Amino acid sequence: MTAHEVRHLIGPEWTDGDGGTFETRDPHDGSLLGTVARGSAKDGERAIEAARHAFDTGPWSRMSPKERAKILHAVADAVEEHVGELAELECRDAGKNIGHLTHAEIPRVAHNFRFFADYAALAANDAYPDGDLLSYVLYPPAGVVTAISPWNAPLMLATWKIAPALAFGNTAILKPAPQTPLTAHRFGELALEAGLPPGVLNIVHGFGGDEVAGPLTTDRRVDRITFTGSSATGAKILAAAAPNLTPVSAELGGKSANIVFDDADLSVAVPESVKAIFAGNGQVCLAGSRLFVQRGIYDEFLAAFTAAARKLTIGDPKNPANIMGPLIEQRHLDKVHGYVELAQREGGSVVIGGERACGTGLDDGFYYRPTIITGLTNDTRTAQEEIFGPVQTVIPFDTEEEALTLANTSPYGLAGVLFTTNLDRAHRMVRRWKAGMVWVNCFYERDLRLPFGGEGISGLGREGGQYSREFFTEPRAVTLRIRGGA
Ligand code: NAD
Repeated sequence: MTAHEVRHLIGPEWTDGDGGTFETRDPHDGSLLGTVARGSAKDGERAIEAARHAFDTGPWSRMSPKERAKILHAVADAVEEHVGELAELECRDAGKNIGHLTHAEIPRVAHNFRFFADYAALAANDAYPDGDLLSYVLYPPAGVVTAISPWNAPLMLATWKIAPALAFGNTAILKPAPQTPLTAHRFGELALEAGLPPGVLNIVHGFGGDEVAGPLTTDRRVDRITFTGSSATGAKILAAAAPNLTPVSAELGGKSANIVFDDADLSVAVPESVKAIFAGNGQVCLAGSRLFVQRGIYDEFLAAFTAAARKLTIGDPKNPANIMGPLIEQRHLDKVHGYVELAQREGGSVVIGGERACGTGLDDGFYYRPTIITGLTNDTRTAQEEIFGPVQTVIPFDTEEEALTLANTSPYGLAGVLFTTNLDRAHRMVRRWKAGMVWVNCFYERDLRLPFGGEGISGLGREGGQYSREFFTEPRAVTLRIRGGA
């Protein structure tokens, strides 16, 4: 593969900007994938100008949702026509399984556009006739949206933000994660070819703080900031946005509980629990990284869970049979391994894994073995802090009340996973579970109408369906009197 040259998309132009460049590399073998424009603060300002100009003067914000939907469906068509190419780019840049990308993650990119295009055009609107008064709600677009996204599901999460922002009539500036810029760049080309007017979507690459992302979070001309990433960065962005009172939607880190009761169907609970921690190499915000198993089935479950984890094949993600690929970069691998060492100091026992995966085809990449740790209590740092890797802690419990207390004893509150065949128990648990999303007897199923987001340090606000509409628009109350019309 020839090295890519990733530029910023600002207005109608692809530009190198003036901040120099950085490299993006394949986490499988460290090979160079591309050279990426490193956005300066000035580049960020230029992108804001372009988005502002397109919003204030262009046709996009004034089109009917139906007209916008036509173009957004054409964008989705273009993504579907290029699934193979986008999947390969993402596979190399992010180290994700090619089969998963081809059949799930890249198709979901197209679905993000189709869903929000249709939602904006077709969603029910509120009207309140009351005697001679008629009140209703308008949803004009908010204006210019900054979208900042992470590396773990690069194009899917970027478009989870861009698609609703555009569908509701805004213009946007996307800043993808520096580790994974390739699909955003290609997507920008496809979107323009599909008929998205220039300036409606701007894409800048680089880093936070004083560089390109600085103005994207502090400039008054930005009307909304939608961010997905770590809780620490989320806090910085909230602080940056505060002086202008710019609304921020923040989808942040997680340390979600996965609770397995002794009445669970283990033929479901075991494979779904494996998926809940080891899919995406554990680099999934929703991961059920704190596993609690009722004592009566603890040994049986742990044996089956460990056996299933041992079978996960590790290797080049370009081979769909390899379920576990590399972690994103050396720094992240060091962080993950540091937590395994901490777990041992905290009294934990490593049941399997706990080390870098080596051997033919693995030595140059950032491969880490699926790791299961027992013997820790829920108050240890290992069980409380987000590791964001293939590391599962397993802790026994006795009662329903204890399981709920364990689940809710966390600063995070993103998701929960529950396995039980007792329907009453499932309903009791989900009512008191402090988490934005709870899955019962399944994991990771998504209906885009549902609110997506977390409690505690897992986030601020919700996106999805009507929740995205509320965030990306300025709902306006209109009341008019009808003469002679009581
Ligand atoms: P990160 O917070 O390091 O970076 C995320 C993005 O923010 C990147 O584009 C980065 O360049 C940018 N950024 C960093 N500092 C910034 C600053 N000061 N101002 C503006 N932008 C800045 O996160 P990451 O390592 O890329 O992603 C992993 C994290 O994301 C994990 O904590 C994970 O749980 C979380 N995540 C959450 C969700 C969710 O929906 N809740 C989904 C995926 C990932």
